Amino acid sequence: GNKNINAKLVLLGDVGAGKSSLVLRFVKGQFVEFQESTIGAAFFSQTLAVNDATVKFEIWDTAGQERYHSLAPMYYRGAAAAIIVYDISNQASFERAKKWVQELQAQGNPNMVMALAGNKADLLDARKVTAEEAQVYAQEYGLFFIETSAKTATNVNEIFYEIAKRLPRV
Ligand code: GDP
Ligand code: MG
Repeated sequence: GNKNINAKLVLLGDVGAGKSSLVLRFVKGQFVEFQESTIGAAFFSQTLAVNDATVKFEIWDTAGQERYHSLAPMYYRGAAAAIIVYDISNQASFERAKKWVQELQAQGNPNMVMALAGNKADLLDARKVTAEEAQVYAQEYGLFFIETSAKTATNVNEIFYEIAKRLPRV
């Protein structure tokens, strides 16, 4: 039969990588050029139907600033899934994403489904991080990798869909 799954999902990554924009695109189908920075964290929920299940994502969109770092475990603890976001036009954001992956693999739920999102894929002329290097990294650390654009909506539903497919069916 069809299963109902509630899944806590956390977005982590550098300030400005596009975490809030990905959530806004997924939950409301919108994009804004001047997205306000997140203070602390924001909560959203969205339901997605996959083949054998209906997944209700309970989404925590975190701020990303260093000064909020100590709060992050509150959001990723007990999370079934995480999306670690970087900006393909910003090398430092990719390095920051790797730090988050390390922290999650050390402290997070060992069964957590982790996705790496190379966001702002529409900014091809400004690209600093190749898809190949991110894919190699993701493969090594056991993450699902995809490039996204909150602006054009490319692969935004897809990343949540891929996570939904990978969640344990209990
Ligand atoms: P956050 O700090 O990670 O939550 O990042 P925001 O969602 O606030 O986005 C930071 C800035 O990048 C905003 O000005 C967004 O409009 C912009 N932005 C977010 N996603 C994209 C994208 O996919 N493409 C482009 N070109 N800009 C984006
Ligand atoms: Mg934000």
